[in-house]
Amino acid sequence: MSDCIFCKIATGEIKTEFIYEDKDIVAFKDINPQAPVHIIIIPRKHIPTLNDLQPQENELAGKMITIGIKIAKKYKELENGYRLVLNCKKNGGQEIFHIHLHLLGGRRMQWPPG
Ligand code: 5GP
Ligand code: ZN
Repeated sequence: MSDCIFCKIATGEIKTEFIYEDKDIVAFKDINPQAPVHIIIIPRKHIPTLNDLQPQENELAGKMITIGIKIAKKYKELENGYRLVLNCKKNGGQEIFHIHLHLLGGRRMQWPPG
């Protein structure tokens, strides 16, 4: 998608330091962190919302979580826990319409979420 910020980050058109990358996934620091650690994990493939995920993308969706956990385990600040969040559409708080997993931690998270 030509006007998608996360596609531009994934292709390198918007220069961003990657915390993790492979052929399917990239991860980078959130520009407006909501916790001491706030990392965004995205598929390189443009998928607008969770509702657009197809059954053949189950492996990709699972890989996002696997990578989120792998990254989390590298941060000492996250050894006592962290949160993985997927926001879907307006009422879910989604602002960027390219699916992404938030990895948040380094502070005690609230429940219920806002
Ligand atoms: P959403 O609200 O869609 O679930 O989350 C989008 C996240 O992307 C927000 O936390 C926002 O701060 C982050 N974000 C938006 N634009 C950029 C950007 O250009 N670079 C980075 N690193 N993060 C961004
Ligand atoms: Zn995109």
